[in-house]
Formats: sequence, structure tokens, C-alpha cells
Amino acid sequence: MNILWFQRDLRLVDHAPLQAAIDAEQPLMLVYCYEPLVLNEGHFNSRHGRFIMESLQNLTRTLKESGLVLHVFRNDFLAVLRKIHRRYGVDTIFSYREKGLRAIEQRNQEIEAFCQEQEIQWQASEPLEILPERVTDWKRFWRKEMQKTIHYPELSRIKPVSLSIGFIDQLSVIDSPDQFYIPDFHFQRGGPDQAQEWLTSFLKIRAVQYLEADNNPYLSRYNASRLSPYIAWGNVSVRQIYQSCQQAIKEGFYPKALKDFLDHLYRHDYILFTTHQGYACDQDRPDAAPDEERQQLFERWKRGNSGVPLVDAAMRCLLETGYLIPRLRQLLLSVLKQRLPEFESEGLCWLAQHSLDFEPRLFYYYVSQPIHQRKFLNPVLESQRMPACIHFLRIWLPELVNLPPRFLHEPWRLKKADQKRYSVWLGSSYPIAPKAWIPRIRKQQKKLVV
Ligand SMILES: Cc1cc2nc3c(=O)[nH]c(=O)nc-3n(C[C@H](O)[C@H](O)[C@H](O)COP(=O)(O)OP(=O)(O)OC[C@H]3O[C@@H](n4cnc5c(N)ncnc54)[C@H](O)[C@@H]3O)c2cc1C
Repeated sequence: MNILWFQRDLRLVDHAPLQAAIDAEQPLMLVYCYEPLVLNEGHFNSRHGRFIMESLQNLTRTLKESGLVLHVFRNDFLAVLRKIHRRYGVDTIFSYREKGLRAIEQRNQEIEAFCQEQEIQWQASEPLEILPERVTDWKRFWRKEMQKTIHYPELSRIKPVSLSIGFIDQLSVIDSPDQFYIPDFHFQRGGPDQAQEWLTSFLKIRAVQYLEADNNPYLSRYNASRLSPYIAWGNVSVRQIYQSCQQAIKEGFYPKALKDFLDHLYRHDYILFTTHQGYACDQDRPDAAPDEERQQLFERWKRGNSGVPLVDAAMRCLLETGYLIPRLRQLLLSVLKQRLPEFESEGLCWLAQHSLDFEPRLFYYYVSQPIHQRKFLNPVLESQRMPACIHFLRIWLPELVNLPPRFLHEPWRLKKADQKRYSVWLGSSYPIAPKAWIPRIRKQQKKLVV
């Protein structure tokens, strides 16, 4: 028998390993594993677990229509493979090769070694055909890859394997992570159907203000594509998005905006396929125990209670929705690296855990940009310059909703009489910002954008 192993590729369409597995015409078992090694990795959060669960439910529904079962285990894939192989004998494993995290790389090596020893073939596909090292004109190569035919699997050709229920029960070893079953409507829901809905609504309606939404934390929640979690968990392939987008452009939908969107997609793949791998989300604690005041400051950064409005609004938005525009991700990172350096690794894990679209290669590409080692993004200037920031601040900081713009950007300017007038009490209804986080602003730069 053969195994089709899903990882961060939770879809059926444009899925090269699935196509290869169908073409092999052998009995096939479809498997997903909630692997303890991933669940215990520093980046993992129940929001990721829920997104995966929703994706698996979607796949299960589709497969069921063709009488097929997706086997979901709560165990390491290697442990599952060993048992299945011992009992039934496995010829070939079809999958993509997941990359990015050190734990995953090590796991891949162990699987490779086991397969070699047991003479199992592991066909681990790459999403793009040629290895990027050999490509000189990357953009041309990428476009060619994106234009390749999309395969829709003929599920009726799959020959399912039947395993005894008792045996299946033995394969799951960790407790069911129940919290994944609880829906949370603050977050985008996982699954290829959802991905398709977000894609269509973007191409046909929401892209109308895509260009304006760039760097605009208020508009971007609706007018950016919001496809990143679907790409990160593989609910849709970049090729599917590319081709739908080209079709929409041909039909006359927002050509300027969609061309810009295609550049973002290209950037995504370029970073992914030219970036080093093997990151680990280590929650290293500082060598010396930090004093209590610093620890409290870090907790305030984590919870969106620092006293700096844009930093707090950005963090609260990330915690509650899992989504943030790139500039605000950079702002949170900049405060962490420049003002809380002793908590850097713990803080990075915090950001990774709360990004619904966490993709290790993209995430670590950005966090290791040299600019962050040198430059502190001034949160007040950012707040004053960012379009529609006032609306974003009012949404995420309801305690400051009465403040006029000049105070909303800099609440520490409120005198006692102003605090009374606007019912904002510094130090009680809203925290007092740490001085080091609000560098002085040069007069000529000070221009309010509302
Ligand atoms: C510190 C930091 C960490 C980041 N971590 C992640 C991450 O873990 N996962 C992730 O998917 N993105 C990450 N990004 C990139 C970017 O923030 C998100 O891709 C984008 O905000 C997703 O929103 P969207 O889907 O509406 O994007 P859109 O603007 O609609 O763009 C469409 C697609 O293009 C890609 N894209 C957009 N912006 C970028 C970018 N700046 N770099 C690379 N690709 C891009 C994404 O796949 C996105 O879905 C990070 C950026 C920064 C600065």
C-alpha cells in the first residue's frame, strides 16, 4: 500500500503528490498527523490547531463524497509509519517536503533514514519543479511555474485501504487537543472552501481598494486579500491564486490593483525559495533573571498595555484576529528588539504563536533583517503618518475613543484637566508609556494624518 501524507498542504487541487499517488494506482491511505514535535514547538498555538482542524473537516467532507476517509492521528508521523509498515507493508509515501523549522528538518532526516532502511520510497515533492539555486532569472522561472496546468484530482480513481478500527486506535497516542474543536469567529476559518471564498471576494469585490489598503491598518482588514493563512497552511496553492488573478485581470477586474497583488505573491515565493531553513522557536530565557520592572514591561508589550497607542492597538489586533499588516508587524518587532532585547527570543515566539499565517521562512526572513538590529521605528511618527490610523486606534483602544487625534497619538500629553474632560485617566484607565519608547519628534516631521 501507499501513503499520501498531508502537512502544510491541506487541499486536494493542484496537489502534485496526490496526483502522483493517484497515478500510481495502488491502494492508498490518506493521512494527517497532529505531531507532538510540532505541537510542542515554540511557535505553535491553538489558533493554528483550530485552523488545521477546520481544514481537515473540509477535506473530510469532500473526500466522503467519493467514499474516501482521511485518517487523522495525534502522533508523530514516523511512529504511525513504523506501525503501519510493520502490519501492512508500505511501498511509497507521497508528500510535499515541509521546510523551515529545525524540528521539521530533523524529523525529515529520521523519516528518510527509516525509509532507506526499510526500502520504502519517499517521494517528497517540491512545490516548484526546479531547485531555485539553478535559476538565474527567477521571475521568468516563477511565471512559467505559475502558468503550468492545474490538476484536479479524480478522487474516484483512488483505491482506499481498509484498516482494522482497533489498529487505527493504537496509532493515536496523545490526548485529543479539544480546544481545536471550539470555533472562534474572530479568526478566519480554515479549509479550501473558505480559501476559495476569500479569493473570489477579493478578486471580484474587495480589490477595489487594494492599493489604498497598502500600509493602511484600517482598510487592509477588508481590502487586503487576507489570503496569507490559506497560503501558509496550503488550503490554496500560489499557482491557483495566480491563475485566478490573471483570469480576473483578463475579465477587466481592477487590473492595477491585481498586478500589484501579483507582485506580492511573487515576493512571497521568492523569499520562501531563496531563504535558508532550519529555524527554531526557542523560548530562551535571559541569562540573568530580569528585574521585575523589565519583566512587567515585557508583559505589557505582550498584552497590548504598554501605554503607546499604536503598539497596543497592533498587539491587540494580532492577539484577537491573528492578522496584522507588515508595517505593524515590523513595529512590534522593532519595539521588542530595540527596547526589550533581553526578551527577544521569547517575544519572537509570542509573535509567531499569534500570527495565524505563521510561515517559518517568511517570519524569520523578516525578523533577521539587519534594519531591525539598528533602527527603532518611532511609534508616534508611525501612528501620525499611517493612513486612517485614527480609526484603527479607536477600534482597538476603546478606552481612548473620546480623545481627539492630537491626544490619541500621544496620550501622555494629556494634562489633568484634559484627562477629566475626556474621561481618560493616565495610569488607571490607560497605562503611562515608558519614556524610552517615545522618542522626541522633530517639529518639521510632525504632520497629522487622520
Ligand atoms: C515581521 C514580519 C513577519 C511576517 N511573517 C509572516 C508570516 O509568518 N506569514 C506570512 O504569510 N507573511 C508574513 N509576513 C508578510 C506579510 O505581513 C503578510 O504576508 C501579509 O500581511 C498578509 O496579508 P495579506 O494576505 O492580506 O497580503 P496581501 O497584501 O493581500 O498580499 C498577498 C499575498 O502576498 C504575500 N505577501 C504580502 N506581503 C508580503 C510580504 N511583505 N512579504 C512576503 N510576502 C508577502 C502573502 O502571501 C499574501 O497573502 C511577515 C511580515 C513581517 C514584516
